[in-house]
Order: sequence, then structure tokens, then C-alpha cells
Amino acid sequence: MSHDLGGDHTVRVFTTQERWNALAHKISAMGDFKPEIILEKASVMAIDPRDEAAISALNADTQPSLITVADGLDLEVIHAFRELAFKADPRHPILLKDTLHPPSDDTDFIDALLPAAMNIGSLLCDGIGDAILIRGEKAPGQSLRLAYNILQAAGTRIFKTDYVACPSCGRTLFNLQSTTQKIRAATGHLKGVRIAVMGCIVNGPGEMADADFGYVGGAPNKINLYVGKTAVKFNIPEAEAVERLIDLIKEHGKWIDAPVGEPVEV
Ligand code: SF4
Repeated sequence: MSHDLGGDHTVRVFTTQERWNALAHKISAMGDFKPEIILEKASVMAIDPRDEAAISALNADTQPSLITVADGLDLEVIHAFRELAFKADPRHPILLKDTLHPPSDDTDFIDALLPAAMNIGSLLCDGIGDAILIRGEKAPGQSLRLAYNILQAAGTRIFKTDYVACPSCGRTLFNLQSTTQKIRAATGHLKGVRIAVMGCIVNGPGEMADADFGYVGGAPNKINLYVGKTAVKFNIPEAEAVERLIDLIKEHGKWIDAPVGEPVEV
């Protein structure tokens, strides 16, 4: 279970020993939601980023140390980790935490999700963080799903299909919700593929970000398909457009068959 941290290495997901133990009997079946590193076994150095003496001692050490912000400080999470990242030498990888005040009792999932997504997501988008740990959500499996979904949403680790859909407007040329659901059902198992679903060709292609494939309304009941930002198939009848999208994904070598069996609930 040893993983390199920092630099260009993959951002890893930590869990606590207690949660690891709770999941131990099914970790091998947890697929993409596996915990990767146990907090208590990782020698993490907790620092108050305002403590100049501690920062000086850290930076004087030529050996990389895994660092994080100490619990219980009167600092906002984002501010604290930004200050730590600013002051600590970059050779020291940083473990991000969703909260500096982990709850002792069960919390409502939304109360855990929102600060975790805001705090860790913002820091990852700033380019800060080499590993992450969720403690606001106490349920072991749920906390791991939250961790991986934050990594996916921040574009840090893409481990399932990523979708970009326009919000729809008066120009939308098909039922965006039901079509997106249909595309998700057909392609949700494709790891690392980004698919854009856009209601019209007026603004859709420009808003597809860096999608690999695009499904874009070209005319009433007609769909254009894109590879990157290039339209490659035009005016496909809507009834067969999802199948043609799958063909296109196959042509470009990005298709795999869906795994047999139900995913394991963690
Ligand atoms: S892509 Fe087209 S349909 Fe979608 S919101 Fe933008 S203008 Fe409207």
C-alpha cells in the first residue's frame, strides 16, 4: 500500500485506521472507491502555518515530509492550506483535510458534503494538495465516495466518465435531461472519457470545454457528433444518435464493454 506522494504523482485518498478496519472485508471489491493510505501509518506532520519556527524547521529539512494543517486551529480550511502551501517548500507533499474540527457525532451528509467539496475542491483547483482526507462524513464508504467524487469534479483524477451538459435554453433542440440520462446509461462505465451534451450548435461547440466527444443539437430532431471540437457526423436522426455516438467512441479506441454484475456498495 505504499504510494509516492507529491510532484507529478497521483493525488491519493487517505482514510483513518478505524474506517479501514470497517471496510477491510470488502476493500478488494471496492474498485475505484478503495482507500489508499491509512492516516495513522503515514507519518503526517501537522503544522500551524502561522508558526514561523515550525515552518523554518520544516524548510531546513532536505528530506520530504508529508505535511498538513493541525486540527483545532482558528483558521478557515482554505486559508490555512493556502498559507501552508505558500510557506512550505514544495518538496513537502500536502495532505488536504475537509475540516480542522472533525465531528465526534454523526452528521447529515449534506453538512459534510458542502464544506468538503468547497474546501478540498477549491484547493485542488488552486493546484494545492497531494492527498486528501475526508472526516466530516463519518460513514466509511460514503466518505470515500465523496473523496473520489471531489477529485473527479476538480479534474484531478478522472476515474469515471465525465459529462459536460449545457443548462438548456430556448435554443435547445432536444430533451436535454432524458438524452443526457440515456447517454449516461450507455457510457457511464468508460473511465476517463469526457462527453459533452449540448442543446444547439450556436453556442454548444464553444462551451464543450475539453470534451473528447460531443453530442450537439444540429437541427430539430437532428444531432451532430463531435470529436473534440471538430464536427464529424451531421444531421443524425435523434432516435439513432446515441448508438452513433457509441460507434464513434469505438472508432476512436475509447470504448470498453461494461463490466458484468452489480457494482459493490461501500
Ligand atoms: S448550448 Fe445552445 S441550447 Fe445549450 S444553453 Fe447554450 S445556447 Fe442554449
